Amino acid sequence: MCGIIGYNGKGNVKSILIDGLKALEYRGYDSAGIALSSINDKEIIKSVGRVAKLEEKVKNESKLTPKFGIAHTRWATNGASTLNNAHPHTNGKITLVHNGIIENSDVLKNDLIKKGVKFYGDTDSEVVAALINYYLDDNDIVDSINKALKMLKGSYALVIMIDGDNNLYAVRKDSPLIIGYSDNGYYAVSDISATLGNAKKIVYLDVNVIAKFNSDTITYYRDCKEIKEKVIDVSNISFESSKDGYEHFMLKEIMEEPKLVSNFINKYLYSDNSFYDISNYKRIDIVACGSAMHAGLTSKYLIEKYDKIEVNVYMASEYRYEDKIYLDKDKTLIILISQSGETADTIAALREAKENGIKTLGIVNREGSTIAREADYVIMTEAGVETAVATTKAYIMQVLVLSLIAIKTSIKLGFSDKNLLDEFKKLPHLIEAVLNNSDNIKSIASKIYNIDNCFFIGRLIDYAMCMEASLKLKEVSYIHSECYAAGELKHGTISLIEKGTTVFAIITDKSVLDKTISNLKETLARGARGIVITCDDTDTDFDLEIKVPNAPYFIEPMVLIPSLQLLSYYVAKERGCDIDKPRNLAKSVTVE
Ligand code: GLU
Repeated sequence: MCGIIGYNGKGNVKSILIDGLKALEYRGYDSAGIALSSINDKEIIKSVGRVAKLEEKVKNESKLTPKFGIAHTRWATNGASTLNNAHPHTNGKITLVHNGIIENSDVLKNDLIKKGVKFYGDTDSEVVAALINYYLDDNDIVDSINKALKMLKGSYALVIMIDGDNNLYAVRKDSPLIIGYSDNGYYAVSDISATLGNAKKIVYLDVNVIAKFNSDTITYYRDCKEIKEKVIDVSNISFESSKDGYEHFMLKEIMEEPKLVSNFINKYLYSDNSFYDISNYKRIDIVACGSAMHAGLTSKYLIEKYDKIEVNVYMASEYRYEDKIYLDKDKTLIILISQSGETADTIAALREAKENGIKTLGIVNREGSTIAREADYVIMTEAGVETAVATTKAYIMQVLVLSLIAIKTSIKLGFSDKNLLDEFKKLPHLIEAVLNNSDNIKSIASKIYNIDNCFFIGRLIDYAMCMEASLKLKEVSYIHSECYAAGELKHGTISLIEKGTTVFAIITDKSVLDKTISNLKETLARGARGIVITCDDTDTDFDLEIKVPNAPYFIEPMVLIPSLQLLSYYVAKERGCDIDKPRNLAKSVTVE
């Protein structure tokens, strides 16, 4: 998390950095800061909160005409969200911005304190500035940075400026950092979108390669020796996004779902991509975080049902530390799902899998991201830029890819007829039907928006959907929501049900319809208010219901979830929440 940008060039440095920060704000928004340099003079301006506040402050306070600068929008990991802890951080001649976590920062800080170094804040990033300053030798800056890096444990993307030097220095390990080449200078950015389309060529900076750049030249060093990096042309790729008249990105992105699904199906429904064929494997481990993990959980039910292959779904942050038993490595596939392709825990799991000699398939939305580059096989979800922090369209596309894997493999294995694929063609219209019938969803939102807590219950694939629906509601509306497998509630948690507690029941799997209804009734008997989300061919009669079109089992999740994405959106809107940037969150979770 944290968004960082460094720019050295002939353009308007202040506006390039501020506009770049705005594009990076999805990565964190606890505080923001900027350091500007005219080589002889330096100016640092910081503010707690959003980039807009920093922009105002820079407008009012900045006197410098800078030649280059660095900027940061923070998602705090070490130290509270205060002005002192906001980046850029300075020690002696060093000023830097950092994305990542330095795990041994306490030890390093204590050592430096013993050596007389003074600190003003609580971040690990300030320790990095102090360490580089400690090793600083003006005659060999790259070597000084290298010496400091050798002391660090953890993850970092750093852009460093040094008093009296007209270069910026950029380096990374386990946090993303991309070098952008534009007509009027060089960038170092967490995400290429921060160059607002100005960078026509990029370099994915390799681990611990130091990029040194002024406005005219850039040089790369590995272990202090000059090297060449591969420059990639991105002039044809668009990284920008706008609200297109919608009030929020979240709503715009939900509304994009039918088109995206339709484009994807047109391209790949009948294509012969071998990455969709998992018929050779006996065991699939799906490793992901948050909504991506819920997409994985949904597909567990599909792959097990249609392909008869064992699937286990893991949170990446747990999986990477577990003792794993792979009985047959050659027959095991690890699927890693991540919208950004930069999720730190998922990357760690990917690297461990590769070390273990197990094949990996990445399902990601960002071209050139770490997972896209490092996995053995990659399927791009092609959801376009997703700006709202809470994922909607990228989640639907993950489920689509996984459903296609399940069905294509089932056909390959001879378990399903190839005509089954045709069913996917109906999907865009079915989602459209849900999105066009939002009046009932809005009306339910207006009835429930002021609740403090609620439950989502469902069984099997409906449970996987409950997980995602519950998370979405929490993320954007801040309502405390619990998700339970319907039959599990009575084993303890039902004690929380009282008069008026809202219980959402998702019921699409007909094989467990009666069971889930019974579980819902158990809560109603204790005073709960039930809301049923089901298919329009299901004969239920509750006061509050959301009915979505009936569809085949492997398509229904993609038809139903948009209705609950909309519900979360409208509830959050009624509550006046900051929908596109919910508190405490960041979109690309690049720390562990
Ligand atoms: N650890 C740094 C801080 O807390 C950077 C955080 C991050 O990259 O998410 O300021």
